[in-house]
Amino acid sequence: MTARVLVVDDIAANVKLLEAKLSAEYFDVVTAQSGPEALAICERGEADIVLLDVMMPGMNGFEVCRRLKSTPSTAHIPVVMVTALDQPRDRLQGLDAGADDFLTKPLDDAALFARVRSLSRLKTMTDELRGRAIASARLGIADPLAAAAAETGLNGRILLVEDRPTVVERLQAVLSAFHQVEVERDAQQALLRAGEGDFDGVIVSLNLQGQDGLRLCSQLRSLQSTRDIPVLLMGEVDDRSRILRGLEIGAHDFLMRPIDRNELLARVRTQVRRKRFTERLRDSVQSSMEMAVMDQLTGLHNRRFMDNRFAAMFDESALRARSLSILVLDVDHFKTVNDSWGHDAGDEVLREFADRVRACTRGIDLVARMGGEEIVVVLPDTGRDAAYQVAERIRERVEREPFAIRNRSRDIKVTVSVGVAHRRAGDVSSADMMKRADDALYQAKAGGRNRVIVASAA
Ligand SMILES: [Mg+2]
Repeated sequence: MTARVLVVDDIAANVKLLEAKLSAEYFDVVTAQSGPEALAICERGEADIVLLDVMMPGMNGFEVCRRLKSTPSTAHIPVVMVTALDQPRDRLQGLDAGADDFLTKPLDDAALFARVRSLSRLKTMTDELRGRAIASARLGIADPLAAAAAETGLNGRILLVEDRPTVVERLQAVLSAFHQVEVERDAQQALLRAGEGDFDGVIVSLNLQGQDGLRLCSQLRSLQSTRDIPVLLMGEVDDRSRILRGLEIGAHDFLMRPIDRNELLARVRTQVRRKRFTERLRDSVQSSMEMAVMDQLTGLHNRRFMDNRFAAMFDESALRARSLSILVLDVDHFKTVNDSWGHDAGDEVLREFADRVRACTRGIDLVARMGGEEIVVVLPDTGRDAAYQVAERIRERVEREPFAIRNRSRDIKVTVSVGVAHRRAGDVSSADMMKRADDALYQAKAGGRNRVIVASAA
């Protein structure tokens, strides 16, 4: 994948120069000569990374950055501020506006390419997560992007890997005002701790005595348990080539000594925000995937999941000539429960019904609420007689004890009718089994309810 870099500068010659450099490295380049033009391009989703000039007439770079970062649809696009002067104040203002990084004119090619590559890798990942989150938002998840954009990036858990006591003391004093800081002097211990703890960032010194900070960086990036933790490198000015190497192997950012207090805080904050942004998206993907396959009332699988999974289980059992059975369970006179006690009581009955069914089935059985008061259980490797026994056990368990509702202030007597079917040699699909089980359920209802009817064997 090649990233699309938006170059924003009010001076045409600057735009041309950057465009030429980036194109030579096979990046796609889009250009803009004003803030509003840049915002429009970003809103249309046409940029993966923004290189943003600070000094522009009209809307300056800080303002453009602030707007990008406060708009949910563009907040995730990495922004690199390009400043004419190496002014700490400019850096601070840029990072405050939410910039992910900055470069100083005249631009150093190696630093430029390393930063753009590192940020484009990150963008690829967040794009994937965003795509899934947006798809799942359609299933009813609250706007995860707005929530992520509102993340403050404060109170992170930071692991500082540094072995010089005076430096540790100074950095700790600065960071502790906003974050929880833990210190580790040994690189290998740091790797273990990072793997066990729930850290929002690791700051790695490249000047550890007798230890290689770059090696630690590469280990952090390659282990499953630590690869999502942002890594910030800290080095001396003459460590430049090692810092660039670190960015290539996946460090997210770096700080040059002597470390500026505000720069440290701003960069750590940016990394914490980025980490949480990613986590939130992942969580929302996780819960929406659950929502897509679960019934919210009972916690059982839902009909959609059931339809797909049952079809696959049918094919598997046919292919391997294994037995397979299905139970269709329906609460008797459920409408009366709703009419007499209200829908909340009806919901309580359904939850209790689901619990009792679950208690009578195995982990490998598929239990799903098909809607209304109907639950289906698919039993792999289970023949006709065993399936009947499971159905009878459930029927008994439902009938034996009345259902307590409204904090046990009421007991409702509930019974269930069950239709049972097993896979026959002539069955073409799962629908054949389902049809026979439905017919058997119909017979159970017609025969007086509170009973199990098994579809015939032939
Ligand atoms: Mg300018």
